Amino acid sequence: MPEWEDRVDAHYNFEHDEHSSPHTSERVQQYIWDVFDYERTPIDGVLISREQVEDSRTKFERLIDHGVHHEASGLNIPEWLPTISDCGAWGYKQLPFPPYDNDGMLEFYEQLGVTVGVTIDHLVLGTGHQERLYLDKRAMPEGFSTDDLPEDLTEDLDLMIDDWPDTWPDYVAESEPSIYKTGEPDPFDLSIFEGSADRVLADLRDDPRAVYREDDTDFRYQLTLKNAREMRDLYEANGYSFRLMVAIQGWDPGSYANAARKVLGMGYDYLGIGGVAGSNVEDVRKTTTELGTVIKDYERGFDTRVDTHVFGFAKTDAFETIGRTGMTSFDSASMLRAAWTGGENYHLDSERRYDAIRVRYPSNVDDLEDAVEKALRGQEVLHGLRAFDENRSIAVALDEWLTSAEIALDSFESYLRENRFDDRFDASRLRDIEQSLREDFDLAGELKASFSDALRSRVHKLLREDDPEEPLSFEEYARLLNTASGVFEEFESMQAEIARRERATADVGTFKQVWALVKSYADWIGDEDHLQAYEKTLRNEPWRECGCPICSELGIEVAIFRGNNRNRRRGFHNTRKFYDEFEEELPKILVATEASASLSGAKTIESYLRNNEPELWNAVHDLPVAEIGVVTANGVHEWWEQPPSTVSLAPSKLGQQIGAYCVRYQDLFMYSTDRPLFEEVRHTVETHDCTVHEYSEADKLRTAVLDRLGYKDEFLPSRLVQSGLAEFSQ
Ligand SMILES: [Zn+2]
Repeated sequence: MPEWEDRVDAHYNFEHDEHSSPHTSERVQQYIWDVFDYERTPIDGVLISREQVEDSRTKFERLIDHGVHHEASGLNIPEWLPTISDCGAWGYKQLPFPPYDNDGMLEFYEQLGVTVGVTIDHLVLGTGHQERLYLDKRAMPEGFSTDDLPEDLTEDLDLMIDDWPDTWPDYVAESEPSIYKTGEPDPFDLSIFEGSADRVLADLRDDPRAVYREDDTDFRYQLTLKNAREMRDLYEANGYSFRLMVAIQGWDPGSYANAARKVLGMGYDYLGIGGVAGSNVEDVRKTTTELGTVIKDYERGFDTRVDTHVFGFAKTDAFETIGRTGMTSFDSASMLRAAWTGGENYHLDSERRYDAIRVRYPSNVDDLEDAVEKALRGQEVLHGLRAFDENRSIAVALDEWLTSAEIALDSFESYLRENRFDDRFDASRLRDIEQSLREDFDLAGELKASFSDALRSRVHKLLREDDPEEPLSFEEYARLLNTASGVFEEFESMQAEIARRERATADVGTFKQVWALVKSYADWIGDEDHLQAYEKTLRNEPWRECGCPICSELGIEVAIFRGNNRNRRRGFHNTRKFYDEFEEELPKILVATEASASLSGAKTIESYLRNNEPELWNAVHDLPVAEIGVVTANGVHEWWEQPPSTVSLAPSKLGQQIGAYCVRYQDLFMYSTDRPLFEEVRHTVETHDCTVHEYSEADKLRTAVLDRLGYKDEFLPSRLVQSGLAEFSQ
């Protein structure tokens, strides 16, 4: 999952729609790995992009100082959860060059302490044009639009206008000395763009505010490969502790395959396919099939293994191809974001999807009367939905709410008369005043929920202004409170209508009763188009089917579309549901053997396996989906890792380690030629719902893994690439 600040307030108050503290720094923020425990966390890794991290200077510095796994980093990613960091090419796609250099990037990964760092790529954009003109947005005149440029100039090329960095990395000097170290640019005089296109482009050749390339696709493709070569050398020379993944780019399956052959030749064993985010499933199938074939040839030809990551792509209908072509990992936040980017935003699986019920907040442009009415109507429907979920009387719930709202408003007036000059309100920051009010006035939450944040915020402002030396007239408070009570008196609650329905059927908390409320609310707020979808949601009550900790704890709140704390939690839930399907189709399988004492002398786990367990390695090194490694009492060591410096094989410790590791796996295939697995080790693994399969013949183990996946021995999908393209890639 890409890290994009997806977090919730751990102690959010759903009843009053109130954060645990007005001060962001005092809230306990939870990421998806905090909400779920080790066993149920629905992701296998986090992708951290530098481009994203740099949006906030404080965040950037915290991560550099502490690393992603430290509490003080703010992310506090658990040690067991692998991390990949890249530069975030999508974010600088409009720039002529990536704004980072190779050694700085490697240093950044080391400081972050990530598991994997990725080489710097530049998106090969499929825009249709090879010719591109880059302009520094900082030099464009105020109010500039691309329509101001002559059509002659722009019809055959892509214009890329973005804010350029203040300083470019050193490597830019080689190909574009004119833009290197130029500082703040002078604004363009637009007349420079007039005349024939050839003339204009010639004039811009040495202009520090412009870069023109005839074949920008090729430039980006070659630059990505050049970075791969340089970063490999720098990586080897400096002994970094993370694993280096190479990012490749392309514009069709053949060009990707060509890039793959080149980087495999450089010695990479982890490839990242960039530039496919947003592509359709069919195109990604073609690309991964072509790449899968190239990689499989390489693995078999060189008796080795290669991992592959697909950047920004996860579609349930591509699992089959992702598995068969040997792709190892992918990242996507689409299932998370789907929770708030449109309809069908509550997922049980890829087929059964529902619409969360929208209960809207007042908007900033509403006057106080409108804000209070929207708050009241919103609270009414929220209380009704909760009673429906709890199978209790909606009429009683609404009655209780109306009473407590009335009490809150009434007692607020007397509270203000008595306490408005209190020292606790002698503060300059409104947040401090809010905090004091929430601590001192018990009904502050109810007041805000039922009569709007707008009302309470205005009172905060009056309290700040009010001073015993120069008191405000109490009228100022009274005017606000009277507005609220005026709207409250006029408010036509559905309580009586629902009570009538309950009496008529002698039943409570039914669909028909809540429906009257939801329908009336949706009609009033202007969401009547959603009613058909809402009906499906409320009739099916999908949250009751979900056992995830969010739905178990919060029930119907997850199926309400309202604010970050509900919507993002629904996104976490959707991610869990996606992961369930993913595990079903691409089960997590570990193929392992117990190590011997000679492991510590090996250069890598791969070389140990190749030399000490040649039959096993030969049979499994090209297997898709499965992970391959050796087990010691120190833990599970994957094929690409370095061996531990000391090797312990104590069975009880070994059992604990592999047991803990396999909690997140469905199947463990153990290979041993001399003896069965220690009974206690087997027992520990199986108590964690991981099935243990033991083999003493490597070929049989291979067949069993493929059987488990439902694949035949020739598991690669047939290539879909036309021969013409394949020839092009030679
Ligand atoms: Zn759930």
